[in-house]
Amino acid sequence: MATFWVDLATANPLVTVIVTDTDVNGTILAVGDQTLVSQRRPNDRVESLSGGFVTPGFWDSHVHLLEWGRSFSRVRCQADEGLDQVLSKVRQRARDLAAEQWLIGVGWNRQALGRDPDIASLDQAADSHPALMVSLDYHTVWLNHVAIERLQLRGEEARRASQTGILREDRAFWAQDEAARLDEAGTQAAVDRAVQSAVQAGFVGVTAMEDRQGLLTLAASDAVEGKLRIQLFLRHQAGRGLLRAGISQGFGYHLLTIMGVKLFVDGALGSHTAWMQEPYLEEPGNMGIRSLSPPALRRWASLLTGGGLLASVHAIGDQAVHEAVKALQHRQGLNGAMHRIEHAQLLGDVDLDGLTGSAVGLSMQPAHLLVDRDIADRYWGARSRGAFRFADILRSRIPLAFGSDAPIAPLEPVSGLWAAVHRARPGDEPWYPDQRITSDEAIWCYTRGPAILDGRPSGLIEPGYWGDLTVWREDPRIGLSTGEPERLAVQATIVAGRRVFAV
Ligand SMILES: [Zn+2]
Repeated sequence: MATFWVDLATANPLVTVIVTDTDVNGTILAVGDQTLVSQRRPNDRVESLSGGFVTPGFWDSHVHLLEWGRSFSRVRCQADEGLDQVLSKVRQRARDLAAEQWLIGVGWNRQALGRDPDIASLDQAADSHPALMVSLDYHTVWLNHVAIERLQLRGEEARRASQTGILREDRAFWAQDEAARLDEAGTQAAVDRAVQSAVQAGFVGVTAMEDRQGLLTLAASDAVEGKLRIQLFLRHQAGRGLLRAGISQGFGYHLLTIMGVKLFVDGALGSHTAWMQEPYLEEPGNMGIRSLSPPALRRWASLLTGGGLLASVHAIGDQAVHEAVKALQHRQGLNGAMHRIEHAQLLGDVDLDGLTGSAVGLSMQPAHLLVDRDIADRYWGARSRGAFRFADILRSRIPLAFGSDAPIAPLEPVSGLWAAVHRARPGDEPWYPDQRITSDEAIWCYTRGPAILDGRPSGLIEPGYWGDLTVWREDPRIGLSTGEPERLAVQATIVAGRRVFAV
């Protein structure tokens, strides 16, 4: 039995019919023109794609799926909102929530606030609710006194937090997890919502960075089954469990697969905690934060590869990226899949060379540059020449996969495609224009690029590849070149030869 997808266009004018199998991956059996249809057998199905333009299935290579699902029910701040606007949103939500319920918000921006926010104003706005407000880059949280009590902070940390309301980096991540754990209601609903939004955005799969709760919720979700491919990297705390259980890369069922473990080498640009070779401008002496020492990073990398797991290393500043490259560049991949560096926002020439020909790919989020360009110019100055080096990376033939890092940016591909091609918001001057890439290259980084990193036979519309397809209303390259991103509309999503979403 096979499915004949007809009434479609592709980038290859000779391909107007795609035939997929009904095996577990919906493998593509044949591609060609209308004459193929005459070869169908009695049980085969013919399905129209209503004149849509078909690309290989889009893949988001860096999402926090559970967090993204939760973000729908969170107080959402905009990057340009001041303290008054943020507090008025908190006040509004506090009125809607049941007594005692956690009030969780995301997106406040220290740049827009002018300084870290204060605990007294959050006490007042959140009323009796425990409140935890996560910064735009997720590396800082702002708490009220009720939250500090619920989180059971102790000793010096409790004393300092009750004065400032602020926790940073590892402790900020811990507090987010702990609050989420305490706020159990709706976790499953959050995952279902995230999966639905991914397929609506045209994604056939995602690489998800999750903690233990994310893993368990995803594994138990009906929404995941058969709808969206998910490849998981677990935070290193949960990763130890994988090693102990002897679970290695490729383990999973149906569309859910374990890939490896995510490690953090540094913080983020927005919090000025990305680990740098030279200080931040305007902040003499601040070179950012090192989360994992180089020896610890190497130990982890050996442990993981020895246990059959891939390493996914978060590295944003040039020093962090350098250490990540050193730790990974001479290691073998696993089952055709590559180790990866996440973000790699500032990449030196030495490291570009070090990655070339290695079993390490890059996972980057082009839409971040639309937000980060001004901060980078101000605090990295001329070093920004090496930021988001898409063109150089592709020229060096280093596999590059794009993603959103949702919920830091929305889980959708259009703003990323746009940012990679234009390096500016519509109407703005491009930022380091020599690093712009073509729309074909940008699409590749959302389709074939991720498949190469993951060692999957997908991302191409050719016989033998998985039947994962994204169907657009028209060729997405048109809107990208005419400057009309709104023309990039997804009409249907096909995963493993089955339509999982249609307008
Ligand atoms: Zn992330």
